[in-house]
Amino acid sequence: MEKFTVDGLVIRVTVTGESDRIVWILTRSRGLIRAFAKGARGTKSKLHGGTSLFAYCAFSFYEKNNVFNVTEADIKEVFFQFRDSFEKVTVAQYFCEVLLHNVPETTNEDFYLRLALNSLHFLCGDQKPWLLVKSVFELRFACEAGYMPSLVACDFCGEYETDRMYFDCREGLLYCARCGEDRNLPRVPLAVVSAMRHIVYSPFERCFAFELAPECLPILGRITQFYLAQSLQQSFKTLEYLPREPV
Ligand SMILES: [Zn+2]
Repeated sequence: MEKFTVDGLVIRVTVTGESDRIVWILTRSRGLIRAFAKGARGTKSKLHGGTSLFAYCAFSFYEKNNVFNVTEADIKEVFFQFRDSFEKVTVAQYFCEVLLHNVPETTNEDFYLRLALNSLHFLCGDQKPWLLVKSVFELRFACEAGYMPSLVACDFCGEYETDRMYFDCREGLLYCARCGEDRNLPRVPLAVVSAMRHIVYSPFERCFAFELAPECLPILGRITQFYLAQSLQQSFKTLEYLPREPV
């Protein structure tokens, strides 16, 4: 039997037994842990708040034969301020769906947790449009999962930028106005190319720190959503609840 404590974010909750929960916790140094939280559905349980969806806690576990039990959940933050926005709640659930299916069960890399916490933090605030937060999550996640697009210059001629460019979502390649024209690819305004470059190449602490004109956000949104799904070869149920042409 092993006992340990690690920070983590609850990204899925189901119920079992009379008053128990099963929780999926994205941890800082132990990947994704599925654990039992005994009695946690009882409102008087000391585990009740800390094993709720979007709770970020210092969790104590004991593990036996690869079965994990939560023994304590010391709450650091509960992300709930976005709950009055249908789009934001849906996007938060979409983040959870992506994480659940793609974070390795054992990894000591804390990137996924940091990306999730930052994304939820910005969803809770009003400074960043939810579409922008979603795009940063999608593109940085794709990079971390091994699908970093090549956005440095036109893949064919090396031109750094032209007023419009073209992006091949299947190959993750960028083309200038001249080389992209006949390739049957989506046209991307330069402002969106610059935003994509910022998301991909800036240090993690800075990846949300940019602005994009409202009319460009849906263009960025379509590209990053398609690029992530295409890279991971997955489709995500939660996205069906978002408007098809996000605004
Ligand atoms: Zn070119």
